[in-house]
Amino acid sequence: MKLYNTLTRSIDELKPLRGNNVKIYTCGLTVYSQPHIGNWLGYIYWDELVRALRAEGYAVERTQNITDVGHLTSDDDNGEDKMEKGAHREGITAWDVASKYIAIAEKESAALGLLPADHLVRATDMIPQQIAFAQELDSKGFLYEISGDGMYFDTAKLHDYGELARLDIEGLAAGARVSVEGKRNITDFAVWKFSPTDVKRDMEWDSPWGKGFPGWHLECSVIARETLGDQIDIHTGGIDHIPVHHTNEIAQTEAITGKPFSQFWVHNNHLKSDGTKISKSLGNVYTLKDIQDRGYDLAAFRVFALGKHYRTEGNFTWENLEAAANRLQRWREAMATRWQEQVLPTAEQDINGHDFEEELYAALADDLNTPKALQLIDGIADKALAGAVCGSCLDTVAEFVSKYLGIVTSVADITNDQKKTIATRETARANKDWATSDQLRDKLAEQGIGLRDTPHGSLWYRS
Ligand SMILES: [Zn+2]
Repeated sequence: MKLYNTLTRSIDELKPLRGNNVKIYTCGLTVYSQPHIGNWLGYIYWDELVRALRAEGYAVERTQNITDVGHLTSDDDNGEDKMEKGAHREGITAWDVASKYIAIAEKESAALGLLPADHLVRATDMIPQQIAFAQELDSKGFLYEISGDGMYFDTAKLHDYGELARLDIEGLAAGARVSVEGKRNITDFAVWKFSPTDVKRDMEWDSPWGKGFPGWHLECSVIARETLGDQIDIHTGGIDHIPVHHTNEIAQTEAITGKPFSQFWVHNNHLKSDGTKISKSLGNVYTLKDIQDRGYDLAAFRVFALGKHYRTEGNFTWENLEAAANRLQRWREAMATRWQEQVLPTAEQDINGHDFEEELYAALADDLNTPKALQLIDGIADKALAGAVCGSCLDTVAEFVSKYLGIVTSVADITNDQKKTIATRETARANKDWATSDQLRDKLAEQGIGLRDTPHGSLWYRS
């Protein structure tokens, strides 16, 4: 498996730290509002990464957090806590906001066919561990207090702070407006925030520094370490996390362990919508429900997502989704052509599942080249629709596509009665009895079975 590593800025060969086991950490959703399609995109790629690694024979262990506290509206430890903001908006507690959107996220994740993480951990379920971790940072001299605000990490104490993002610290400091009064360095960040004295927060805990809540970055360092150990193989997330969130996760973890946190940092690019940044004011925020409400299968969204490379910027439009849906429909028609197996001359059975498997694995192992993997399926579909692929070969292909691309292309076989109807229609066509032929075609169409006439006879598909 070769992957683009943000840490080295090159495509590197994965050599897991523990033999055949690959440990992956993924930054999860902040559960304060309805997720939109842009939020889900990255998780489709990380699901694909797990499937690709399994195709290579690796045992994968993946952790994902659920941010249900501490994520402020600004990246620089300013602004409202997103959870408390959601609570004010909806007139319920932050705890209820979390439960509501966790349930929605779980449902949508399952509907997308995403493989569940081995460890799915809420930030609020590891508060004592986060406090213990912060205490260790404090005892090693990395923290300082900003009165009335919180405990901050002194980034000048790490010689390689900002390496992931190639941060130009001096340049940043020169052009910066100081966001939090009392920060020693422009890049310093909150590890523990104090509760305000005048407002009662829904979520707050006692700590050695006073009542408050953890800084957003802390949960990822802690949950990764608690579930996967001091060092992991791959850390994934969106490119927007590189300069602050991931940079600060690295700082905290490496300040404690003194060892590289993750071998690989793998980042997905953004999704635009209707050609621009996804934003409420532009009216281009779409959800998975919007997609389903328009009659699309969510598998079509997955085909749309995997149709571009994870490192390329995407653009969601309804036309692009329609194209993906048509592509999927064509694959499904193609995979349903096994009815023709008996009538195909063996010489035309010119592909087999084994070749496809090798080519699919090679594409995925090449920095997760999903566009190429999808083109491979297109090629098979071309041949199958021309009646040139044996049915059992297609079964094998459909199995690989389902297992390693997470896209279900196989369809349930038709009934014996329907098969008989197709055979009767074949005879009618041979006798040029077009009236009967059309009548039988209509009868099948009413049952959701479409027909495509080829030189080898009729292929059926579910319409
Ligand atoms: Zn994170």
